[in-house]
Amino acid sequence: MNSKGLKYLAKDSAKWLAISAGLEFANMLRMLPYGQKSRHRGVIFTLHHVREGRVCGFSPNAHLSVTPDFLDTAIKTVLDEGYEIIPLHAIKARLQEPDGKSFAVFTLDDGYRNNASDALPVFTRYQAPFTVFAARGLTRRTNTIWWETVAALLNTQDAFEYDFGSGPETLHCRSLSEKTAVSERLARHIIGRHENSAIAALNIAAEKCGIDPLGIVDTLVMDEAELSDFARQPLVSIGAHTCSHRALAFLDDTTAATEMRESADYVEAVTGIRPCTLAYPYGFRTAVSGRDERLAGECGFKLAVTTQPGTLGTNALSRPYALPRISLNGLYQKARYVRALAGGLPFGMTG
Ligand SMILES: [Zn+2]
Repeated sequence: MNSKGLKYLAKDSAKWLAISAGLEFANMLRMLPYGQKSRHRGVIFTLHHVREGRVCGFSPNAHLSVTPDFLDTAIKTVLDEGYEIIPLHAIKARLQEPDGKSFAVFTLDDGYRNNASDALPVFTRYQAPFTVFAARGLTRRTNTIWWETVAALLNTQDAFEYDFGSGPETLHCRSLSEKTAVSERLARHIIGRHENSAIAALNIAAEKCGIDPLGIVDTLVMDEAELSDFARQPLVSIGAHTCSHRALAFLDDTTAATEMRESADYVEAVTGIRPCTLAYPYGFRTAVSGRDERLAGECGFKLAVTTQPGTLGTNALSRPYALPRISLNGLYQKARYVRALAGGLPFGMTG
């Protein structure tokens, strides 16, 4: 598929993260003409799963998984290029140092169990700190991971019933093109104003097909006891990732603020440390509003990260609640991608 097609898909599809992250490298080259490179000081990487396994069948979430070997390569590449890996909460001080060393930050969203079993040993090998963003509803098993539910449906069913709000309809998903179309349509429907009810309808559809959406969460995500143990690791920081993992921009002021504040309360209750960092669910432009940036500050966070691609320049602290990140994408697990970032641009040129 050409880049035009990819961009089209990225706009409105379940592949939003895969495609946008895949294009980040190329986009950054265009975004950062040579003369601007010296203004860039660091980068925050986003990961989700770190685990073994190859993509097979229909894998709409493959972009969310990298292997431990690739994580090792990414860390090594960043270090070889002369960057210091620092904790997320330390970037404010670093950016305020006029001649501070270039830095890289590693973050992992959603609190997957493999962050402890597979990622931690790699980070430990390099004594590299990292932040895991935990969502209360996932850790407590009160909310489901809809994109995994969709993948389970599409990998096991030729068709299933779903109600988009105008009555049940049969979604055919036998062929790859049908699966892709259904996956994209569901994503467009779910990430919006009616996320709760859209996910509830998906859960009903899945249960009718013998799929247990909460069981998927229970398999993949750390529970409270595990999160509490994990947080005691010296290299680990736990950040907040809201309670229900809904797109905040679509929620009213009170609900959005409650999502943020209560998720910080929760992380503090489980780990004993109040988080000073927040990752917005989804994190892309339409999922996070200026209102949410303001609320993040009012809720006491020091920094908040999006998934909007970019690196951190000397002016990054002008919007500490809208920090960009670069996805380490499971579909692009090549050292050269990390090297492209860590090499010539943009933070390699810090004066
Ligand atoms: Zn998330």
